[in-house]
Amino acid sequence: MKIKELVFASHNQGKIAEIKQLLAPFNIVVKSAADMNLPDVEENGTTFAENSLIKSQTIAREIGLPCIADDSGLCVDALDGRPGIYSARYAPNRDFKQGMAKLLTEMNASGNNSRQAHFCCVVSLAYPDGSYELFEGRVEGNIAEKPQGEGGFGYDPLFVPEGYTQSFAELGANVKNKISHRARAMQKLLNYLENL
Ligand code: IMP
Repeated sequence: MKIKELVFASHNQGKIAEIKQLLAPFNIVVKSAADMNLPDVEENGTTFAENSLIKSQTIAREIGLPCIADDSGLCVDALDGRPGIYSARYAPNRDFKQGMAKLLTEMNASGNNSRQAHFCCVVSLAYPDGSYELFEGRVEGNIAEKPQGEGGFGYDPLFVPEGYTQSFAELGANVKNKISHRARAMQKLLNYLENL
């Protein structure tokens, strides 16, 4: 059955604008958790998929409409995949300058010389009856020796995607939004919606 209206379980205005723009060609009315004054849902899962689903299923059940949510993070090989689902909380006071410094210090102390890392994003679509679909996007890359560039957010200045020499922060939104973990997961969701 074609979806006509859905809720995006987020209060992040940047993400909300991005999702509304992506879904505009599908004639789907998108309301965000922020538009509807819904409280934040506690993310107490142990994987990206679980955290994404906690958000989308809680709101789909509450509101009675299909709901999408995403959960994402940076996984660093030398740190056995950390900070992963804890990427936001890993940065002291959500200050990513400090978060990036902490990451570089931990990598240096790890005794592992690998610079390899990936960003992961799981977008979930939950229906009010409890059923759901998951869409995963990943981008591989390397952690730079020090932050490079001012654009983007979070760990963007440290992440150099495979095939590039500049960080996400230097490459800018146009390039990032074509190759990022979030863009790839969203593309899978859009393909699914197109084929409903
Ligand atoms: P959440 O998906 O909103 O829970 O965000 C997870 C955290 O992962 C963010 O606060 C950032 O620290 C990090 N993160 C996720 N995606 C990106 C990205 O595209 N660039 C930089 N950092 C990101």
